[in-house]
Amino acid sequence: TLVLGIESSCDETAAALVTGERTILAQAIASQEAEHAPYGGVVPEIAARAHAERLAPLIETVLAEANVSLSDCDAIAATAGPGLIGGVIVGLVTAKALAMASDKPLLAINHLEGHALSPRLADPELAFPYALLLVSGGHCQILRVEGVGEYQRIATTIDDALGEAFDKSAKILGLGYPGGPALEKLAMEGDPRAVPLPRPLLGREEPHFSFAGLKSAVLRAHQAKTYSDADIAASFQQAALDCILDRMRRALDAMDPVTALAVAGGVAANQMIRGGLGGLASDFALRFTAPPLPLCTDNAAMIAWAGAERLAAGFPADPLDLKARPRWPLDPDAQPAPGAGV
Ligand code: ATP
Ligand code: MG
Ligand code: FE
Repeated sequence: TLVLGIESSCDETAAALVTGERTILAQAIASQEAEHAPYGGVVPEIAARAHAERLAPLIETVLAEANVSLSDCDAIAATAGPGLIGGVIVGLVTAKALAMASDKPLLAINHLEGHALSPRLADPELAFPYALLLVSGGHCQILRVEGVGEYQRIATTIDDALGEAFDKSAKILGLGYPGGPALEKLAMEGDPRAVPLPRPLLGREEPHFSFAGLKSAVLRAHQAKTYSDADIAASFQQAALDCILDRMRRALDAMDPVTALAVAGGVAANQMIRGGLGGLASDFALRFTAPPLPLCTDNAAMIAWAGAERLAAGFPADPLDLKARPRWPLDPDAQPAPGAGV
């Protein structure tokens, strides 16, 4: 099978062609970092317009690069949510038009399902059920991935996502947007034990996360002017990792057996987090999968792959009048975390 994937839920416009045998025939991505950098974050209107300008040429590029046409594809998969609604609509409308014109099935993909299944694109041996840490700009969740379309949410954040905490801390340190990669780089020059920072919810029974207090402590440490920025960055990263490992350990102790531990989402590109989770997996005698970095941050290959997984699992095509969803939880039965929204 061959699936064309389209991603436009945040600030990357992307298209990719992926086979059911895990071959990425072609992929193209246009980041909008330069457009949003002056504002210190993603501006939805600017994002939607940039997606509209760039998407069609990117699709033409991947088709040409792989030397295939739409008629060679078995389905057109596009992110239908969650995300910035203007951008999601651009990608979804484009996919609908292509599906209609080529008489191919439309697959409306949950962006989070794209992240959740991305480790299986990278690792053919990764079998269900697996424990997943999904850490991105908008989400911080522990899931038990039981099958395609079957996600049990074990934990979530009661305030900020981990990527958000990286970005906000980076902003405090004047590192610009997006801050995660810049903070990781600066942390390499610092001492992770230099600044005493809190580890919110450490040791708590329920494996939920909280990062707002950590970010506030970074602000206070920065204002105190007694620490170097590199020491603050390194100490922040260490505190974040300590929280993640404690919460993940707790979740693995509590959840039904799994075959493996995987990590996905933009923050999964962080080397210290990858290394720490790899160690945790071996403590639990679990296989560990962290996708290559370009599959961690937003991309269209993971959307095409989720489409291929859905086709293989026998899911039907989605209707051409399907609506984009700004909110779309992976586990509709998940209860809000205690204290959420505080
Ligand atoms: P969501 O998937 O929740 O809708 P998103 O799509 O905006 O959010 P991703 O593209 O998956 O998020 O991830 C982006 C986030 O990952 C940003 O917060 C960014 O700072 C963070 N990030 C990227 N690389 C790194 C890194 N090396 N270290 C830490 N954080 C990183
Ligand atoms: Mg981005
Ligand atoms: Fe994402």
